Amino acid sequence: MRRTLVTGVTGQDGTILARRLVAEGHEVHGLVLDADAAEAWATAHELEAVTRHTVDLADPDAVCRVIADVAPAELYHLGGQSSVAASWADPLGTLAVTGLGAAAVFEGAHRLTEAGHPVRVVQASSAEIFGRAEQSPQDETTAIRPVSPYGAAKATAHHLAHVYRERGTFIACAILYNHESTLRPESFVTRKITAGVARIAHAGGGTLALGNLDAQRDWGWAPDYVDALVSATRHTEADDFVVATGQTHTVADFVRVAFAHAGIEDWRSHVTLDERFVRPAEASIQVGDASKARRVLGWAPTLTFEQIVGRMVDHDLAIIG
Ligand code: GDP
Repeated sequence: MRRTLVTGVTGQDGTILARRLVAEGHEVHGLVLDADAAEAWATAHELEAVTRHTVDLADPDAVCRVIADVAPAELYHLGGQSSVAASWADPLGTLAVTGLGAAAVFEGAHRLTEAGHPVRVVQASSAEIFGRAEQSPQDETTAIRPVSPYGAAKATAHHLAHVYRERGTFIACAILYNHESTLRPESFVTRKITAGVARIAHAGGGTLALGNLDAQRDWGWAPDYVDALVSATRHTEADDFVVATGQTHTVADFVRVAFAHAGIEDWRSHVTLDERFVRPAEASIQVGDASKARRVLGWAPTLTFEQIVGRMVDHDLAIIG
């Protein structure tokens, strides 16, 4: 049985990945922060087969110890503080968990490799490392220029992945653009919108408070991005891959399509501006060029923007009754 370790296993991507790995017959181990919450997660998603290890990513000794104990063949590093918005409220905590946490994972993997047990690691890198990108679309060669604490933490991890790769440890980097699903929490704008639309459609009225409607993002479908993580891990060599749809949309586009899907055309009357959701600095237009992933890994997105929005709205309409 192939033994696999997933950090951040209870998150959106971790959940989708764990389902897939269990179905493939892997012995799946997951790093979790809170044992009780993780047990509730395992029950809710029928993932009791996942062995949970309660480890704080900000504790490097504990991270290295669990990697040595589990000795996985594949290691998916998805864990960390994953919200750009929250990183402004806690920059140091974000750096500790998302930056240094990755360093601990790479060090643990390096020690395991040196001990004669090679492990394949994939780092969930992020479009946010490009920040105010000087080129559009961005690819694997675009200059790294983060503009948020989250982006800086992910950039640190990205650079360290290359350092450890040079030392002979297999660390692939999937530079993931925003990717959504019905598992997204409402701290992300997409799920906030689809949950809000369902609420307004159900109640026959109401408003949704948002920040910058002009921000542009390259939104993809999370299960596709999990496929890319798996392909990058199993590729012959560790490399960097931008994972994106190549299409960009504004937050306003997402709002319009989501309301229209619920049968509401006049979306503007349901949206208010709330300065609390406007960021101190915003990454420029994010749009990724995934032609390398397409060419080398045979990867391609399977859903359009409209289909992603439609699935999320349908899910939220169904759960509201
Ligand atoms: P991010 O790209 O990882 O930060 O993902 P988010 O879903 O949190 O944010 C995507 C974009 O939506 C950013 O440009 C935000 O500034 C913008 N946005 C506008 N209104 C909101 C809001 O109410 N909540 C969040 N989270 N983002 C918002």
